[in-house]
Amino acid sequence: MKFGFDIDDTLINLREHAFHIYNDKLQQHVGLDVFQALPSMEIHSAFGLTKEEGGKLWSSLRDDIYYSKCAVFPHAREVLQELVKQGHEVYYITARAPEHTDRTRQWLIDNDFPVAEGHFFCGMSDSEKVHIIDELKLDYYFDDKPAVLETLSHLPVNVYVKDRSYNQHLQLPRITSWDELLEVLKK
Ligand SMILES: [Mg+2]
Repeated sequence: MKFGFDIDDTLINLREHAFHIYNDKLQQHVGLDVFQALPSMEIHSAFGLTKEEGGKLWSSLRDDIYYSKCAVFPHAREVLQELVKQGHEVYYITARAPEHTDRTRQWLIDNDFPVAEGHFFCGMSDSEKVHIIDELKLDYYFDDKPAVLETLSHLPVNVYVKDRSYNQHLQLPRITSWDELLEVLKK
């Protein structure tokens, strides 16, 4: 079967990683409890920044956020490796900007994710993901972002939401921890 995965906040803990970097750069000590309760994907409000200030800060720190030591969610890489071992195909579909394509792909490889030739897609907008997911004829797709997940309901793909604070309202099958995926497949 074909499995598609978003990367940021689906397979890796990117926003929390960025949250620590923001604290460091802004010399603040905003607690992780504030992060965990954020109702939106954007983290700037936790630091008293406007949307515009937050956007500028994110842009200025983007390389650091993307390519430093961001934590992988528990069991994510092991489960993806296991899928490949079982003969399944693993695809990555990330809306990171096009200029991050090569480095993001390499980051995945350097962090022991299985990346097969032609199975990595980067640089599309959130609203364009649906076309790639459709064309690939994925059996399963996993993402954290409501704006993406809401575009997929007409496709035959099995869509799962990766459980995060800002997607609690979505009525979709939910993955809280990646070791649950292998259990889902046994059913
Ligand atoms: Mg994401």
